[in-house]
Amino acid sequence: MPIAGFHLHFYQPPRENPWLGVVPNEWSAWPYHDWNERITAECYRAMIAVALPHSDDGGTELNEPLAKSSFDVGPTLHHWIERYAPDVDQALAYQVSHVAASPRSVVVAAPYVHAILPLARATDRERLVAWGIADYQRRFGEGPLGMWLPETAVDLDTLETLARQGIRYTILMPGQAARIREPGGAWQQVDVHSLDTSRPYLVRLSEGRTITVVFGHGDLSQRVAFGDLVDNGTKLADTMMESLDVGRDGAVLLVTDGETFGHHHRFGDLGLAWAMRRLQRHYGVDTTLGEWLATQEPTFEVELAPVSSWSCAHGVERWRSDCGCVTGSQPGWRQDWRTPLREALDWLRDTLGNAVDVELVTLVESPDETLCDYGTVLTGALGPAEFVRAHQARGLDDDETTKVLELCEIYRNLQFSFTSCAWFFADPAEIETAIVLRYAAVALELAVRTLGLGLETEFLTRLQGVRSNRPGVDGREIWRQAREHYRFDEALIVAGFAAEHLANEHGARHDRGFWRLEMQPPLEDDEAGTLRVTLTNAPTLRRQTFLTRAQRSGALGVRVQVKADGAQEWFTFGLGELGTDAVALVASSWLVGPGSVDFEGALNLLVAEMLMRHSSTDDAVVLVALAGAPRCVTPAGETSIRRALLAITGQPHEIVDVELLAPLARAVGLDELVGSSRPLAAGG
Ligand SMILES: [Zn+2]
Repeated sequence: MPIAGFHLHFYQPPRENPWLGVVPNEWSAWPYHDWNERITAECYRAMIAVALPHSDDGGTELNEPLAKSSFDVGPTLHHWIERYAPDVDQALAYQVSHVAASPRSVVVAAPYVHAILPLARATDRERLVAWGIADYQRRFGEGPLGMWLPETAVDLDTLETLARQGIRYTILMPGQAARIREPGGAWQQVDVHSLDTSRPYLVRLSEGRTITVVFGHGDLSQRVAFGDLVDNGTKLADTMMESLDVGRDGAVLLVTDGETFGHHHRFGDLGLAWAMRRLQRHYGVDTTLGEWLATQEPTFEVELAPVSSWSCAHGVERWRSDCGCVTGSQPGWRQDWRTPLREALDWLRDTLGNAVDVELVTLVESPDETLCDYGTVLTGALGPAEFVRAHQARGLDDDETTKVLELCEIYRNLQFSFTSCAWFFADPAEIETAIVLRYAAVALELAVRTLGLGLETEFLTRLQGVRSNRPGVDGREIWRQAREHYRFDEALIVAGFAAEHLANEHGARHDRGFWRLEMQPPLEDDEAGTLRVTLTNAPTLRRQTFLTRAQRSGALGVRVQVKADGAQEWFTFGLGELGTDAVALVASSWLVGPGSVDFEGALNLLVAEMLMRHSSTDDAVVLVALAGAPRCVTPAGETSIRRALLAITGQPHEIVDVELLAPLARAVGLDELVGSSRPLAAGG
């Protein structure tokens, strides 16, 4: 049976603050909390169940396009969906296990990190693939047959890695093929126009291994992703059928980012579901790649270009040089910052990665197997302590166990710093590059703590060559901006807990991102009002006890002191340092009542206060935190935010932190309140 189907690649970069494990606000995603929330509403949730009008009687029916497609979900995105959109995760799991023939027939795995595999070190490539397989196994109960390659970036070594780990097929685009031959025939050159994409191909690898390659239909995929073909589902289905050789059991496969449907193209989810229903019911063809592949025995061979990808015409240069492929550039801009960024991170990965290996040798049976297997921890199949026990070279105590886990975390953060989006866009002073630099920063800090190895100075020297197209913004400044307002340490986490506890004695969170907090009974000589708190970092199991005391200061402010148990020095923190998630909880407890999460009500009460007293800098901190707390701000909430902004900036003795309020003011269209100064790298 022929197929006319789709492969959808779902992916977003990891957006968690890597010190905290909580996703920060991205004001450019307004009215949503961040881009993952927004894209979930527009695309992921929409694609789970699309309401289609009946073609005949005027009613509606729910269609589940993913259960009859082929798709992959980047593991870091899937992790976020599981945590923040459990409805999507559960419905997806049900559809692939109960509506589709089997998970393997519809879901393709992906490497754990969206890295360009041909540019990765050979060992890293093996591990990222192994982590992706572990994630798939935990979610779907069996190993994957197919694997999606980030940016479809491929070379022979990458295919060898996939085949060695049991992957049977991958999906590429026609421009990546160099020549083909039929069984017993001679090699024929092919190009993007002449390659016959209706059949699967075989790539011969070392030691008798092979891997199957399925090619997407280049022209139709382009017209769906960047044209208007998905605007009309009937036309989409009919056009696909025109390209299908029905008699030969061939395939027409459209390959695009999953976010095309509903996010990049409004109502694209409808167009896709409509087209799939028409293909199935009207034309009677199958739409599921996995099921079709199970009936195919590829006989034609393909030889691929030495290295290639679907979004760079120069192989994989886009992720390391100024090759000319770019998104969002402006006249006169250059992308020569890509090379020093890649080289600095490669240097860090090599230097720090080697140090990790050397240290692991004394603690575990095999550093390579340990790091390869760390994916089972990342996906939650194995607890960290259990994982260390499985790999330890001898009985390790708690400190040594934490050391192994910290070494694994150094390695993980290094890998996350190769997330390909950092090189994809026009300028390095944007969200995507900041994301990878933060992972590098966490790896550097852990290196100091765990290995006593200080590499930041040399790393920064290497980063110096990364220059933004905006005047005066060099690597050092990009580094500073990436970490500012993001960096958290243990004392600050404890301070946030103490402030939440002060505002709401029984409701302070014991769970915040990567961190677990436990209250301890006070000791005899602890001063009254002092809390004793044990803080555990969940990934590394590092535990430390702190003393802390918090008091209210001014109308909505707080002053928190923290010191490590046994230390002399107290550190003092104010409201603005605690993190917006903590501030929103503290402020709504104070404004509305203990434990309240009525952020909109709190905003209205903040306005009432502004009408009765002078503003302080804490009010702006509270306003920004309350405005950013909901997953999506309602129209009524937005009205409250505008009123609060007007109240604060209209104070007679105004103390207005323009830089703090500017992104919020812009989000709600009140730019004039904070002037025209636009801070760099506001994101977007
Ligand atoms: Zn290029």
